[in-house]
Amino acid sequence: MRAIVITENGGPEVLKPAERPDPEPGPGEVLVDIAAIGVNYIDVYFRTGAYARPLPFVPGLEAAGTVAALGEGVRDVAVGDRVASVSVPGAYAQRAAVPAADLVPVPDGVGFEDAAAALLQGMTAHYLTMSTYAVQPGDTVLVHAAAGGMGLLLTQIAKTRGARVIGTTSTPEKEKLARDAGADVVLGYDGFADRVRELTGGEGVAAVYDGVGASTFDGSLASLRRRGTLALYGAASGKVPPFDPQALNQAGSVFLTRPTLAHYTATREELLGRASDVYGWVASGDLRVHVGHRYDLADAGTAHADLEARRTTGKLLLLP
Ligand code: NDP
Repeated sequence: MRAIVITENGGPEVLKPAERPDPEPGPGEVLVDIAAIGVNYIDVYFRTGAYARPLPFVPGLEAAGTVAALGEGVRDVAVGDRVASVSVPGAYAQRAAVPAADLVPVPDGVGFEDAAAALLQGMTAHYLTMSTYAVQPGDTVLVHAAAGGMGLLLTQIAKTRGARVIGTTSTPEKEKLARDAGADVVLGYDGFADRVRELTGGEGVAAVYDGVGASTFDGSLASLRRRGTLALYGAASGKVPPFDPQALNQAGSVFLTRPTLAHYTATREELLGRASDVYGWVASGDLRVHVGHRYDLADAGTAHADLEARRTTGKLLLLP
């Protein structure tokens, strides 16, 4: 099969196409014929070595496809089932052996591209807006990188929950996309905290959803209302340097959390619940998935380069 293999950490050029033997599903695993692969920023962290993983490896966590074979002891899944996962051990490939416990069913009303595009970022937007800080009707929230994969989903879900959404983006094209997703106000990054204060009558926002990290962190803290929540869920611009917890007091007894999807899908019940909500919204049209870019699997390096250079909007897919 075709796959992307990383033999050393580094820039997008280390994502090299290679021929690999088809994986054999072990006990409790399922062989999946992959139809679409989701690109996520975490794939960049594993590629660079910011998140450690033994070399060599096939990168990628998210894919959707059809069950092609069952390993020993697998009962609840059948050959031919349409499935997806955010825990694929090597999604940048034509086939992968995935633990059956990590699969979710893809309903008939959701195509494979939408299934691969919506699952990881959709479940993340789900937990951020419903569990980390449960958005209340009438809240104002700030969503950074509002035209990105995460940003467009967060904006839509926060709007559905009755919030007023202020977004940040870096270009007029991205501003338009964020508005189309429902953002009420879209700002550039320069001086955003002052603008947020003005827009909220001096009060600040109930929550900031910040996947940008180093370059926005201070402004995000300064944008919060008293006892507001900063959900720092990523670091697209780099890691936030160590800081003094006293800053949380000065910002108004605010809450800072650094959440991750695995801790919000830790049980099978929670995984299936969030996945079924997300796919239900996609099937009903309540959640629109914007696939901004499709690449051949062999062009994974170009996809990463585009993502890191801020040239992309919405979700990036690799097609095997
Ligand atoms: P995006 O599509 O949002 O791409 C990143 C965006 O961040 C860019 O398009 C850009 O938008 C903005 N950005 C601002 N500064 C920079 C910079 N210096 N370099 C690169 N991008 C920058 O990516 P994803 O939706 O895949 O991921 C967004 C964030 O969410 C990532 O930090 C990721 O790690 C995190 N994440 C966290 C999860 C969790 O559970 N904790 C799960 C899923 C994602 P603009 O040009 O408008 O500024």
